[in-house]
Order: sequence, then C-alpha cells, then structure tokens
Amino acid sequence: MSSEKKQTRVKVVVRVRPTLKDGVKTCVSTNNKPNTVQILNHRNIRENLMYDFSAVYDDTCSQQHIYNNSIKSMISKSLNGQNVSIFAYGPTGAGKTHTMLGSATDPGMIPRVINDLLLTIENEQKTVNDKPQKDRWQYTVTFSYLEIYNEKVQDLLEPASVDLPIREDGDHNIFVAGLAEKEITSFEEFKNYFGPASNNRTVAATKLNDRSSRSHSILMLKVKKNAMFPPNREFQGKIYLIDLAGSEDNRRTGNQGIRLKESGAINKSLFVLGEVVDAINNNQPRIPYRNSKLTRLLQDSIGGSCHSIMITNIAPEEHYYYDTYCTLNFASKSKKIVNTNTTCLKQQTSTSSLSGNTSTSGEAAQTTH
Ligand code: ADP
Ligand code: MG
Repeated sequence: MSSEKKQTRVKVVVRVRPTLKDGVKTCVSTNNKPNTVQILNHRNIRENLMYDFSAVYDDTCSQQHIYNNSIKSMISKSLNGQNVSIFAYGPTGAGKTHTMLGSATDPGMIPRVINDLLLTIENEQKTVNDKPQKDRWQYTVTFSYLEIYNEKVQDLLEPASVDLPIREDGDHNIFVAGLAEKEITSFEEFKNYFGPASNNRTVAATKLNDRSSRSHSILMLKVKKNAMFPPNREFQGKIYLIDLAGSEDNRRTGNQGIRLKESGAINKSLFVLGEVVDAINNNQPRIPYRNSKLTRLLQDSIGGSCHSIMITNIAPEEHYYYDTYCTLNFASKSKKIVNTNTTCLKQQTSTSSLSGNTSTSGEAAQTTH
C-alpha cells in the first residue's frame, strides 16, 4: 500500500452488555459524556480513565439500534462492489456472539445483514425493467463459513477440508483455495446451510466459560453484480462478519498443553489485528497483514478503500475489570485521566469524592496491551 493512498479508517465502537444478574457491582460508566466509556484507574483509585469512540452503545441499546446506526449503510457498499468487514472483539462472556448472531427472538448483525442484503436485491429486481439498460443488474449472493483455529483455516461447510491455504490472485483479491461457497437467494436457504455448519465450530471448555470460543468464526458473503446488457460489466463485493475468539488474558484461564497452544495463536492473531487496525488508522505505509492468518485473509477487506467496523464488546461487572481495561486499551489508542465521582463506578472509595467536579487533566495516559 503506497503512503500516498489514504486508508479508510476502521471505525471502532463499543457495546456494553447489561448485567446478567441483579445486584452485581459494575465498574463501567457511559453516561458522563457522549461516546465515551469510563472505568476506574486501578493505578490510582482517585481517578477514572475515559476513552473516546466513534459510538458507544450502552446496556439499553437494542440490536436494531446498533444495526441501523453502525451497520446498515454497509449493505449498499457491498452492492457497489466494495469490501466490508464487521467484527466483534472482546473477552469471553462480553457479548460478541450475542451481537453478531443473537437469537431467534433477538437477531444480531449476521441475520440482519443477510436479510437486508437479500431484501434490497429482491426490491432492486422488482423494478429492474423500469430502469435504463445501463442500470440493469443481476445479483448473485454466495455464502462461505470458516474458522481460524490454531492458525489453521477450516471450512465449516465442508468440515473435511482442514488447513486450507489463503491465496492472492492477480488483481490482489484474497481467497481461500478450495473453500465451499453456497448460493443463497432467501434467508431460509441461508439457515439450512448455516445451522449444521455452526455445529462444526470448535469450542472447548475453559475456566472462564464452558463453551468458550477458541477460534475466530468468519462468515463471508460474496455479492456479484453483473450488467444485463453490454458492455456486461461485473463487480464483486465481499462482506466479512467475524466473531473473534475471546480476547481474555489466557494466563488466567488455567491453560496447558493444547489449550496453551490455542491461547498463543489467539493472542498472536488478535495482537496482529490490533497492529493492523492501528497502522490503518494512523495511515502508516506498511500494514502488517501477513503476520497472522486472520489479517492475511482480511487484507483486501480492511484498510484501503474498504469499510470496516470493530464492535468492541465489554462486560460491566467488577470481576471483568481487568479484561475490560485491556479491551478498552486495545480498542482505543487515546484515553484521558478524569478526576470524577461517578456513581456507577462503585469501587470508588470516599477518597475519590474529594476531587469534586469532573475535570479533565488533559494528560494522555500510556497505552498498554
Ligand atoms: P461472547 O460471545 O463474547 O463470549 P455471549 O454473546 O455468549 O458472549 O454473551 C454472554 C451472555 O450474555 C449470553 O448469555 C448472552 O445471551 C448475554 N448477553 C450478551 N450481550 C447481551 C445483551 N446486549 N443483552 C442481553 N444479553 C446479552
Ligand atoms: Mg461467543
């Protein structure tokens, strides 16, 4: 990527999930200033750390609201042949799968994107004959589903295909050689493929969560757009929908042997993802895509002119404090120290109330990973 080319920034938003039980202590506040998250500074309990993001969705925000505000606009990009990536980052238990997949009664971003995409195409087709010939297009949507587990690409539609190679064609398009692709024309068709494929995901127990995801699950939609009349132009856009493996500090999860190897692979790919997002957002000339399978796969779909969003999921409970702190540091490269007395930050002792009104020190704290 040449340094003259401006990279499209990766948008970083935060979603705070609700507490799952009544009466638990929380350590996250979102209501001091729009689009900020505050947590206690464990190095100095008189202070809070305040992080800025493109958007912050608090525990009252619905799937619909997040979809409409941060995701929906990406559908038209893919229909115009652009690549899009949407990923959920955060520790196990913070709401990544809820955000991406959701449930039958409360669908997440994946079903909403697919529904909206197919519906938009259906509506386009209904009026296609009313348009001038040059604007008449035919669309084909295909779906692939894979996971990256231990730095190996595994096809979830064809589970026999393991460790598939990632390649680049002459036009710098990245593809997985031998990956299954299924054409879908309705949401029902998608569900028929997706249900059995989901069961093929690699999940294993850790101390933190019984069915903690130890792999990055990646759903890819290819949107092909063919002109119905000469000169028969053709475009192709891709949408990646990614539920990343848990970002928790694996030293705390009692991992040994195979688990430890997995942890190393997870930590490395998430670390590289952080470096890639950083390099893109600082418009650096060299983006280290090749340093992990995950970022290599995303090379043509994050940065450049692609549209990407990282939904950073955090859990509000006190016992998630360290994971929340690390996650916010990963997601935001800037934070301020704020002296405040926020009622939501229950760990604060009476000493913090000495500081009185909210004031921003303007001092940028060191970012740690
Ligand atoms: P992760 O995939 O990050 O490990 P999950 O999505 O499995 O986390 O969420 C952990 C638990 O919290 C699940 O029981 C999920 O249903 C619940 N949960 C997560 N986010 C929300 C939310 N916004 N509203 C209600 N429940 C949520
Ligand atoms: Mg999950």
